[in-house]
Amino acid sequence: MIDISKYTKELSNLFSASKNILIICHINPDGDSIGAQLALYHYFKSEGREVSMMAPNHLQEFLKWMDGADRINIFIKDRKRSLMMIQASDLIIMLDFNQSGRLGEAEDAVRASKAKKVVIDHHLDPENFADLIISDPSKCSTSELMHELICEINGAKFINRVYAEALYVGIITDTGNFEHGAYSSRTFRIVADLLDSGIEKEKIIDLIYNNFSSDRIKLEGFALNQRMVVIPEFKTAYIYLSKEDLKSYNHVKGDTEGFVNMPLSIKGINFSVLFIEKENFIKLSFRSRGQFPSNEFASLYFSGGGHLNASGGEYSDTLDNTITYFLKVLKDNIWRFEE
Ligand code: 5GP
Ligand code: MN
Repeated sequence: MIDISKYTKELSNLFSASKNILIICHINPDGDSIGAQLALYHYFKSEGREVSMMAPNHLQEFLKWMDGADRINIFIKDRKRSLMMIQASDLIIMLDFNQSGRLGEAEDAVRASKAKKVVIDHHLDPENFADLIISDPSKCSTSELMHELICEINGAKFINRVYAEALYVGIITDTGNFEHGAYSSRTFRIVADLLDSGIEKEKIIDLIYNNFSSDRIKLEGFALNQRMVVIPEFKTAYIYLSKEDLKSYNHVKGDTEGFVNMPLSIKGINFSVLFIEKENFIKLSFRSRGQFPSNEFASLYFSGGGHLNASGGEYSDTLDNTITYFLKVLKDNIWRFEE
């Protein structure tokens, strides 16, 4: 765990010295990245600051209801405006990622910008791509870390309901509603404050978790029935979905969110993988239990990374070849499962 007070002076000096602040989430942003981004945005707004937001690519449907989400400029949709935003900013705050590659197509422009850059994140081993990197993998979410920093800076003054709502989304999505990840008694103290602040937790849970189309639920059934392979001797299970599979269930962005967690509820399974066929590559998601370093596996073999127990990567080949390659490298690493 990091000592937050070591960073807050520098962070608050950077806040005060800046006129135009730009907050950026990562590519394919999850609830934590968007939650932290919107909470920070609402904080700056409540202070009367000039602040804008950018996302490298599109938001998932289940996050679009959030207050302020419609003010996030999408880089790949509006490059001209995004580049202007990047050029106009004198402070860029990047949330929930530890490698500049997670800026997607915005990477070059952000790297070239003369603005001061801050990273607030909870992934292991951040790359050195900012002036100030505040990284604490002991936090369940970037939202939690960001909130603790803001509390240090503003004396834990209550900000407003939309801030609390965004923070709550960040925390519940990165812990699977308090099922996994690095949540702690500290997390629950924060959540207690959020509940006291009047957020409507049932409404938020419904908007995040009970908002699926019938096609999405049918795709889940299909994935488990027809596309899941269990390898008990490797304590591994995987699910694969081709472009055709997704098309036949009218897939929209975000529909496969959470699928990778499902095989972990099988007794004896400690490693779960989801393969999704994209236009020119295969996207992989990894989840593990215990000490198996899914992030190392992702970075060694699939140009990816992430947390010990939750990570992702990609591979440029057909779905079949990717699975064959995966099974080979899994075999090579199976000794790591031994206690
Ligand atoms: P998910 O499987 O939910 O997409 O991602 C799980 C975790 O792995 C996230 O914390 C995310 O930061 C990380 N992750 C997912 N895909 C990639 C990737 O392609 N590269 C890297 N470095 N991290 C990834
Ligand atoms: Mn996160």
